[in-house]
Amino acid sequence: MRRRPLVLVGPSGAGKTTIAARLVDQHPDRFALSVSATTREPRTGEHPGRDYHFVSRGRFKAMIANGELAEWAKVHGEYYGTPAGNLEPGAYGGPIPVLDIDVQGARQVMEHAPAVLVIFIIPPDSSRWLRRLVGRGTESPRQISRRLRTALAELRAASSFGAFVVNEDLGQAVEQVAALACGPSPGRKQAADMRRLCEGLEAGARREIARLKGVAGAESNE
Ligand code: ADP
Ligand code: 5GP
Repeated sequence: MRRRPLVLVGPSGAGKTTIAARLVDQHPDRFALSVSATTREPRTGEHPGRDYHFVSRGRFKAMIANGELAEWAKVHGEYYGTPAGNLEPGAYGGPIPVLDIDVQGARQVMEHAPAVLVIFIIPPDSSRWLRRLVGRGTESPRQISRRLRTALAELRAASSFGAFVVNEDLGQAVEQVAALACGPSPGRKQAADMRRLCEGLEAGARREIARLKGVAGAESNE
């Protein structure tokens, strides 16, 4: 089996966290979650060390200065980064590290570890995407609006990554990710399908951002 690190990218609400967790749950011998450091507050139900290493901004800056991070980025106004050691297990025959990171981070990992496989996770359509994003219940309208604006840039970057998986049925999406991670490098013949899907999602995100502008406070305090 190939042992290149696996990176899942995609807009907020695409299902990256859910797919990564299910993948590791189903194949604990083959995949291991990369736990990132972040300066954002823990959500209800999140545990330090399991979901993220929750750190202060000062500590995060020290991690950057000490070269402790393989990549880092400011996403939706908070800092996120991958501890350098997380990328090592795969190289030594352990489980493949699975990174759930943003596109800026994915580009940095691609520079340092060119063999990495980056899979862009795409929601099946804009209405299900927005329902999932809102239904998760973890962000205010203002935060959703901010995530959608970040998502517009992420969707435009989709075609620069090696493969994509549409997260319609969760089980099938997990199977497809596992097959891509363990198989040969995927071809790029579905690029036109991906572009079409992303354009539909971008249009849905723009409509929702405009609608949220009408929700009190959605655009303030950014
Ligand atoms: P991301 O990590 O990309 O921001 P999440 O993994 O948090 O996205 O998923 C967003 C929401 O969508 C969560 O509430 C999750 O349970 C739900 N979800 C993810 N995949 C599916 C799916 N295939 N079908 C239905 N709901 C899904
Ligand atoms: P969330 O706050 O929803 O957990 O994550 C917000 C965004 O930060 C998501 O796009 C997620 O993929 C990204 N992210 C999480 N960890 C990292 C990381 O270590 N590095 C980078 N660059 N992005 C990350």
